[in-house]
Amino acid sequence: MAISYTPMLEQYREVKSRHSSEILFFRLGDFYEMFFEDAEIASRELEITLTSREGGQSTRVPMCGVPYHAADNYIAKLINKGYKVAICEQVEDPKQAKGIVRREVVKIITPGTILAETSLPDKANNYLALLYEEADELCLAAADISTGEFVWAIFSGNSRANTVCDQLYRLLPAELVLASKLEGFSSISSFLEQRVSACAITTLTNADLTLVSELPEKHFGGEELPDSPAAQTAIGYLLYYLHYTLKSDLSHINKLARVNTQDYLLLDASTLRNLEITRNMRDGGRKGTLLAVLDFTKTAMGSRLLKKWLEFPLLNPISITKRQDAIADLLDKRAVLEELKELLGDIYDFERILTRIEVGSANARDLTALRTSLSVLPEIKTKLQVCQSDQLAGIGMAIRSHVDVANMIATAIADNPPFGVRDGGIIRAGYDLELDELRNIARDSKQWIQDLELREREATGIKSLKIGYNKVFGYYIEITHANTGAVPANYIRKQTLVNAERYIMPELKDFETKVLGAQEKIVNIEYQLFTGIRDYIKERISEIQQTARQVAHLDVIMSLSDAAVRYSYTRPNLNQNKELVIKDGRHPVVERLLTGEMFVPNDTELNHRDSEIMIITGPNMAGKSTYMRQVALLTIMAQTGSFIPAREASISPVDRIFTRVGASDDLATGQSTFMVEMTEAAQIIKFATGNSLIILDEIGRGTSTFDGMSIARAVVEYIKDKVKAKTLFATHYHELTELAEYSKVIKNYSVAVKERGNDIVFLRRIIPGGADKSYGIHVAQLAGLPKRIIERAQQVLLELEQCKGSTDRIPSPVKLPGNKHNAVATVSLFSSSIADELLAIDVMTLTPLEALNTLYKLQNKAREESGSL
Ligand code: ATP
Repeated sequence: MAISYTPMLEQYREVKSRHSSEILFFRLGDFYEMFFEDAEIASRELEITLTSREGGQSTRVPMCGVPYHAADNYIAKLINKGYKVAICEQVEDPKQAKGIVRREVVKIITPGTILAETSLPDKANNYLALLYEEADELCLAAADISTGEFVWAIFSGNSRANTVCDQLYRLLPAELVLASKLEGFSSISSFLEQRVSACAITTLTNADLTLVSELPEKHFGGEELPDSPAAQTAIGYLLYYLHYTLKSDLSHINKLARVNTQDYLLLDASTLRNLEITRNMRDGGRKGTLLAVLDFTKTAMGSRLLKKWLEFPLLNPISITKRQDAIADLLDKRAVLEELKELLGDIYDFERILTRIEVGSANARDLTALRTSLSVLPEIKTKLQVCQSDQLAGIGMAIRSHVDVANMIATAIADNPPFGVRDGGIIRAGYDLELDELRNIARDSKQWIQDLELREREATGIKSLKIGYNKVFGYYIEITHANTGAVPANYIRKQTLVNAERYIMPELKDFETKVLGAQEKIVNIEYQLFTGIRDYIKERISEIQQTARQVAHLDVIMSLSDAAVRYSYTRPNLNQNKELVIKDGRHPVVERLLTGEMFVPNDTELNHRDSEIMIITGPNMAGKSTYMRQVALLTIMAQTGSFIPAREASISPVDRIFTRVGASDDLATGQSTFMVEMTEAAQIIKFATGNSLIILDEIGRGTSTFDGMSIARAVVEYIKDKVKAKTLFATHYHELTELAEYSKVIKNYSVAVKERGNDIVFLRRIIPGGADKSYGIHVAQLAGLPKRIIERAQQVLLELEQCKGSTDRIPSPVKLPGNKHNAVATVSLFSSSIADELLAIDVMTLTPLEALNTLYKLQNKAREESGSL
C-alpha cells in the first residue's frame, strides 16, 4: 500500500517528480531542506548531518538542511561535484497562506548557469555551450550569462567535429548541453575529457519545441538571426535551456554575435595549446602563457576581452593598423596612459553586476560598486579627448557617463551598506521622508530607554537595574537577585537567570510595540526602495553594457601599451608581399622567465621567393623550439594588433598557423605518440594554404630512423611543391639539409654551438647553414647520464660513423654479428623447426582457438629449446 505522507512531504514529492535530475533545495522557514535520496547525497557530499523527519503514518524520512543565508557556498560545492540544484521557494506569505504554503522552483543552478560571485572564474568567462546537429550542419550556441554574451557558429563538412573542438577549447565551457544526437560525438567527448575536463555534459530532453522555435525571434527581435534554420534552432534550444534554468527574462542577454572564423587568423586547439597562448600545458592555468605576459588590464572585463583578442587574432590589415594606432597614441601620451590606469583601477566588474541586477540577486554593495565604476567615466572621457587615434577617440565618444544612474545610487544608497538586502541600513538618510521619520522613532527609542532606565533606578533605588532586549522576550528590566526585594508591584516577572530576574512593565511593552513596528516598517521600506532603484537600473542595462564593452576595449589597448613600454616592444610594419621579416626577435614568454641569463635575439626571414621553408638543425636544448614558437607568437601578437619583442619587423597577416610539436600526453586518447604526430601532420597538409604559417618541430621520430626520415622528407617536399606555406621545420635528421641543394625556396639554418673540449656551449644564435652533428651525447652528459653509458655511446657512435661512408650519408641500422638484417637476426633466435612450422601456418584459415593452441604449442617448444641452450 502506498504510504500517505504529510501534506508538506506530499508537496515536496510533487515538486521533486518534476526535478528528478536535480537536488531539490526545499525552503522551510530559514532553511533549505532536502529529503529522501537527495538528503543522503547532500549529507555525504556536503558533510552535513543526516537526520530524519516524521513523514506520516509513523514513517521517518531522511532529511538534511542548510541555512538559507549560507546556501550559496553549499550550492557551489554541489555544482563543483557535478550536481545540479533546483531552488524551491515559498511563493506566498506564510502568514496569509491557507493550509500549506505554496512553493515553486524559482531557478535551477547548473555549472553553466551559476551566478554566485564566488563560483565564477575571476578574469575568465563562464560559458554554457550547446551543440545541435541537423542534416550535416553542426551548430554551436554559447552564452556567458554572467556577462550577457551570446554567440553562435555553424560548421559543416567532414572536419566539423574537429572545428567544433577548436571552438570548445577557446570557450572552455563549464557545461555543454546536447540538444540532438551528434554524429562525431565520440571524438568531441574524448576531446572534452582530455582538454576541457571540467565540462559537465547535459542532455536536453523533453524541450517544448514550439517555444524553441519561437524564442530566437522573441528574445533577439532586433538582432540579425542566422539564415540557417539549424543555427536558429540551436539558438532556440539554448534560450530555452536558459529560461528553463534561470526563470528570468534575461534582458541583459541582448546581443547575438556570430563566431565568423573567416574574419580571424585560425588557431586550432592544438596550436593554441602548443603555443600556450592563454592556457599553459602543465595545468591549463595562465602562468607562463602569452596572455599572462601581456595582461596588464585593470578590469576583469578587459582581461576577458584580451583573452579573446589573443584567441582570435585579426586578418584584415586595416583593423590591425587601427589597434596599432591606438597603442601608438597612448605610447605618445604616457602621462594620459598612467592617469587612465589609475582611473580604470576604480572600475569593478560591472558587466557581472548588471547581470546580478537583471536576475535580482544584486545587493546594495553591488550598487555602490556600480556607482564607483560609473563615477570615473566622465574623467575617462575627458582624458580620451586628447587622443587622435580612431579607436581611442571612438571609445571616448561611445562611453556614456550614466550620470542619472550614478546620481541615483549616490543619493539613495548609504556609503557602506550591508551584504543582506532585508536587514535595513541600505538607504541613505534624507532620501525618503517616511523612512527618516521611522528611523527617528527607532533612534529616539535608545534615548527613551536610557531615560526610563535612569527613572526606574531612581524610583526603585536599585543602582544595577538595567534595561535590555532579546528576540524572545523583547525589552525587559533586569534586576539581580540581591535587589529583588525592592521590585515595585507593577513589574511582571518574565524570566529567572542564575544571577538575576527579568521583568516587564506595561509602559515598556507599549513602547516595544511602537519601536518594533517601526523597525519592521524600516526594513520593508528600505527593501522596497532598494528594489525600486534596482529596477530603475534594470531598464538601462543595455546602454550600460555598451559602456562596459568600451571600457573593456580601452583596457585592452592600455594593457598592450603597458606591455610595449615595459618590455620595449616595437610596432611591426604590415606588408602585402606575404613576407615575414623579423630583426632581433625575442620569445615574449621565455625572455620573461629567464633569470640570470640574457635572451639572445634572432632574425627571421620568410618569403615565397627564396626562403619559404627554413630547415633548422642543431643539438637538443639549443633553442630550436623556442625560436620556432617565437616566430609563431610574434605573428599572433602582430595580428592581434600588439607591438612585439623585436628590433624591427615587417609582417604580412597569415590565414592559419599550424604547429606540430611534442605530443607525449596524448597517449590518453588511446593513440600512440607516433599516431598523433602523423594525424597532426595529415591535418596540416590538408588544411594549410599558401598563406599559412607551419611550425613542424620534429616529425617522424616515433618510428625507425629510415621510416621517420623518409616521412619527414616527403612531408617537406609536399609542402614545398603543393602547399607552399611559410614553414619552419626543426629536425635532428641533419641529412635533410641536403634538400636545400635541390630547391631555392628551402634554406638551412642551425643553432650555433661552441665545442669546448668534451663540452658544448649553447650560443642560441640561429645561423645560416645546416648542422652536421647532433651533439645528443653531449646533452645526455649534461643531463647527468652515468659516465659509463656516455663512453659506451661515444664508442657506438664512432662505429656507426665509420659504417656511414658505405651507405651514402644515411647510417645503416645496427648490424648484429653474423646476420644480414635485424629481421633475420630475430627469426634466427628460433630453431629451424619452429621457423618452418611458423612459415607453414595459413594464418587466415585459423580459428581464434586454433591460433591460440598453435601459439601455445610453439611457445612451449621455444621454451624447451631455450632451456636446453
Ligand atoms: P630539443 O631539440 O631538445 O627540443 P631545442 O633545441 O628545441 O631542444 P629549446 O627547448 O628551444 O631547445 O630551448 C632550450 C632552452 O634554452 C629553453 O628552455 C630556454 O631556456 C633556452 N633558450 C632557448 N632559446 C634561447 C635564446 N634565444 N636565448 C636564451 N635562452 C634560450
